[in-house]
Amino acid sequence: MDEKLSASNELKEKLFMKKSHGGETLNDDQIKETYDFANRYKDFLGICKTEREAVQYTANRAQKSGFKEFDKKNTYKPGDKVYFIHKNKTLILAVIGKDNFENGVNFAIAHIDCPRLDLKPTPLYENNDLAYFKTHYYGGIKKYQWPTVPLSLHGRIVRADESYVDIRLGDDENEPCFCITDLLPHLAKDQMAKTMLKAVTGENLNVLIGSLPFKDDKGSELVKLNILKLLNEKYNITESDFISAELELVPAYKPRDLGFDRSMIGGYGHDDRCCAYASIESILEVESPNITSVVVLADKEEVGSDGTTGMKSSFVKYFIADLIKNQGLKTRDVFTRSKCLSIDVDAGFDPNFASEYDTTNSCYLNKGVVMTKYTGSGGKMGTSDACAEFAGKIRAILSSANVLWQTGELGKVDGGGGGTIAKFISNLNIDVIDIGVPVLSMHSPFEVISKIDLFMCYKAIKAFFEN
Ligand code: MN
Ligand code: MN
Repeated sequence: MDEKLSASNELKEKLFMKKSHGGETLNDDQIKETYDFANRYKDFLGICKTEREAVQYTANRAQKSGFKEFDKKNTYKPGDKVYFIHKNKTLILAVIGKDNFENGVNFAIAHIDCPRLDLKPTPLYENNDLAYFKTHYYGGIKKYQWPTVPLSLHGRIVRADESYVDIRLGDDENEPCFCITDLLPHLAKDQMAKTMLKAVTGENLNVLIGSLPFKDDKGSELVKLNILKLLNEKYNITESDFISAELELVPAYKPRDLGFDRSMIGGYGHDDRCCAYASIESILEVESPNITSVVVLADKEEVGSDGTTGMKSSFVKYFIADLIKNQGLKTRDVFTRSKCLSIDVDAGFDPNFASEYDTTNSCYLNKGVVMTKYTGSGGKMGTSDACAEFAGKIRAILSSANVLWQTGELGKVDGGGGGTIAKFISNLNIDVIDIGVPVLSMHSPFEVISKIDLFMCYKAIKAFFEN
């Protein structure tokens, strides 16, 4: 029955904002494309458990796609592709555009560090015949979520002679893993009465790593001794080598499809490696753009972007200065005309915790990549609020490329808050806005995203570079 729209429906059609669900608007072939993309992403996420591993993976992929290691003595021409590794923990990919650099650069910046448990400088100890690692958590975690999760150990140890060994142990099911134990419920009357903040403290996050003593001898700390003996045999290290190490304990399991319909992915590190992956895939497909395309994979976002490898560092500024040194331009002139997508996740609406969200301004799973005009907390503190003109430009790019997208805010106004690298980029006088993937259980050992949203994030970055 073909009925004419009523006057109000006709007007609604014209005036109301449309919020589309990818599961309804995408056809079967398009859905399959998002599932295939998600399969490749799961491989990446299972391999890259730390920022160092993500840098190594990306450099290998870039080399295979014709990217050459950046040499600041070279002069680059349109179509050239370069990668630049900074301290093994951040990486820049660039495809030189046809336009002069005075028209600026298109940046897409994601971060590859994730919340986790770092080892303390003196981590190893023994208590009642059990050996442990002391940890210092990195980033904003709910500490009670980390006990009883199988953990693997990743990172680098630099020995006294400055040689080093890389460690990656516990992801393979044939390798040993580690864990933090929790108190049995039968004895947890006092623990259960504590707030979630205090039920498991930072000093409780001690990781069980062994239980057998060094044999054929009498003395103290023989379980610790036995562990050090094994570590010395395997990695040629002694206890003091932990002082010059970066060792991270992360969930040992691989990312998996989630749901009977396999529409989602559960895994560790979606924030922000799903956005990093979307950025990598986008720039690897960029051939001779008009404006130079640059992807930065940054470190230290989860702890405030301080340090040489965080976005408060000058390494991007120096890279651009080296890139344009023969062009008679100043870096500030390039930055002033540049545009940036800060590619980071946002808090997806969770019906289980609906009261913490503003339903009209939340982002939702499967409704596409989310554009977040500002983050911060309280009265818009600690954020870059993208100007209307720039938000309009990005909106136009997304719509004309048929990207499924939505807007979002980080929960209720007075609910808490958080930030991204956007504000540090805006401080360089670069227009920037947040674009990313809605996440459930953000910062937990098992975060959830939708395959459609991940794919739309990739499409959004690609459209931005091609524009
Ligand atoms: Mn993030
Ligand atoms: Mn985060």
